[in-house]
Amino acid sequence: MKKSGDTARGFALRRQRMVDRLRKDGIGDERVLEAMRRVPRHLFVAEALRTRAYENIRLPIGQGQTISQPWTVARMSELLRVEEGARILEIGAGSGYQAAVLGAMGARVFSVERHAPIARRAARIIKTLEYWSVSIKHFDGTYGWAAEAPYDRIIVTAMGPEVPEPLTRQLRLGGRLVMPLSSGKDPRLVVVERETERWKRSDHGSASFVPLIGKYGYERNPTPDP
Ligand code: SAH
Repeated sequence: MKKSGDTARGFALRRQRMVDRLRKDGIGDERVLEAMRRVPRHLFVAEALRTRAYENIRLPIGQGQTISQPWTVARMSELLRVEEGARILEIGAGSGYQAAVLGAMGARVFSVERHAPIARRAARIIKTLEYWSVSIKHFDGTYGWAAEAPYDRIIVTAMGPEVPEPLTRQLRLGGRLVMPLSSGKDPRLVVVERETERWKRSDHGSASFVPLIGKYGYERNPTPDP
């Protein structure tokens, strides 16, 4: 038997409350909020965790990975300044939720995930929910996705030591990249804008993410200092 609140209407109510909370916490981009009001986040997590899907927390998605907390998804989507029809590359598909939010905002999304079972699951749910503008593939995303480049926007949802070099080449002039970078012990959310020959960086506060593992990321899980 379903518990009260576990119905489509119950989930829609929770989603609305999540969005109200995000707005109160400083998310101002109405298009981001509207997309998050529509995408059924509970379907991107394991069944046993569904009732917690609209709390502002990270949740496990297997292989030691997590679906980012709603505030982080909202903030990164806002920093990305998504325009209708934009071509977006995402590194770290994870559950597929962030990709679905960008898809719901009218973007064409190419998302890469290094864990095969996670990528398969994300692709399945994206297909079930009919987000036709979102493609998910399984490989080391630090190489980028050259065949579909250049991109208007790039979002990296795992923390790396630096922006992977191939990604800088796949971002078009005037494009923006959002990524958590670890500088010492204080990981930061960074926006990189590609102007003509210059690159402009801005810092958007501290951030906590799983590591970006690959050729142009960390070679293996960086172990924290004791
Ligand atoms: N955007 C995701 C958050 C996933 S957490 C969501 O909405 O759920 C980050 C993900 O990045 C993890 O699933 C991890 O496996 C993946 N990842 C780490 N290094 C990667 C790499 N080099 N290429 C592709 N994916 C990577």
